[in-house]
Amino acid sequence: MQPVVAGHNTPVHVTVLGATGSIGKSTIDLIEGHREKFKVRALVGGKNTALLADQAKRVHAECAVIADSTLYSDLKERLAGTGIAVAAGKQAVLDAASLPVDWTMAAIVGAAGLEPTLQAIRQGKTVALANKESLVCAGAFMMDAVRAHGTTLLPVDSEHNAVFQVLDPARRSLLKRIILTASGGPFLRKTRDELSGITPEQAIRHPTWSMGAKISVDSATMMNKSLEIIEAAYFFNLKSEDIDVLIHPQSIIHSMVEYHDGSILAQLGAPDMRTPIAYTLGWPTGVKTTGSFLDLNSKINLDFEPIDLKRFPAVSQARNALKSAGGYPAVMSAANEIAVDAFLSGGLQFSAIENVVDQVLQIVKIGTISNLGDVFDIDALARDTARHVIARLTGE
Ligand code: NAD
Ligand code: MG
Repeated sequence: MQPVVAGHNTPVHVTVLGATGSIGKSTIDLIEGHREKFKVRALVGGKNTALLADQAKRVHAECAVIADSTLYSDLKERLAGTGIAVAAGKQAVLDAASLPVDWTMAAIVGAAGLEPTLQAIRQGKTVALANKESLVCAGAFMMDAVRAHGTTLLPVDSEHNAVFQVLDPARRSLLKRIILTASGGPFLRKTRDELSGITPEQAIRHPTWSMGAKISVDSATMMNKSLEIIEAAYFFNLKSEDIDVLIHPQSIIHSMVEYHDGSILAQLGAPDMRTPIAYTLGWPTGVKTTGSFLDLNSKINLDFEPIDLKRFPAVSQARNALKSAGGYPAVMSAANEIAVDAFLSGGLQFSAIENVVDQVLQIVKIGTISNLGDVFDIDALARDTARHVIARLTGE
């Protein structure tokens, strides 16, 4: 692993994949707060040309890339006369991820982030990983690429970042378990029967975090924690049994590590993604956050409760997928993406999301997964199957 240590006044070159999203915006905020330290090579967005152009101007990016190729002229017009290079389309996103930089933020949402994230990993520098779905669907291949290219992969997900901060490599043999905390999402106190009729607006209103739509829905179904169990298994090379989940509604302890000597180490902070992002952006010495601090004088409660696995079946789905390994995590994640899309666009009940994932996991027959091509095939098959299952459920 090669840490990014810039010389005294040498700027660190960075690229942000998924710049226009929730994590991307927090990343840009930190970069703007440390202008002298960072030089932005590329900003990549999906569809929001207005925001991407504005961000590119603010941080003086060398280039701005929009994934939707039909939006090329729109972006070009917005950046006319600025000297900022413009590109569009899937290949342009991959090219941007291949530019020589010291640090890349991988924050595209969903399996769409897999190829660009891998491309960044192949450059052999530092990659801050927010895009958990890419690790879930291709964890073994991604970690192989990290090792093969000597890349420093740093976790941005708050739980994994917390574990990374308190997991002492010297005491690895004394590790008892890691404990991922979960807020429980907006419907923690609702029974399954009370979930019918939940609207997308209700589902994306998270009680403690401000995040993109997909991960907010995933938090409400607990699929987010499920993806995080698999993410932790690959990232820290752990088995399902080594990873516990605990409900902690205040989202102040971001995760914990328990050792066999009886110690439990935790990382605390305000629920603000700028803290874990700052940790990775300034690696290894760190940079100050531009975000919020935890006020320990404000009568903070730290509550914990076990997770009700019947209420949140996604957690058991993830553990089963992880134990069967192969392509099951990829199938689970892809089916969930399609189901969440269908829910957000109004075509599927919130309470049917887990059912769709469950049915797809049962229907899809997985052969040997021996290369990335197999991952893409199983991902496409799971998506098609999910669309069929949803059509049957909704009668469309
Ligand atoms: P978001 O929806 O707010 O942003 C997603 C970004 O990806 C946007 O910039 C969007 O334009 C871009 N994008 C979407 N499809 C694309 C494509 N095909 N090609 C290129 N770009 C594309 O999502 P987010 O909340 O910022 O989450 C991003 C990732 O980080 C997710 O994997 C999520 O699970 C993870 N994450 C987010 C948070 C959080 O607090 N938001 C916390 C932990 C992990
Ligand atoms: Mg998380």
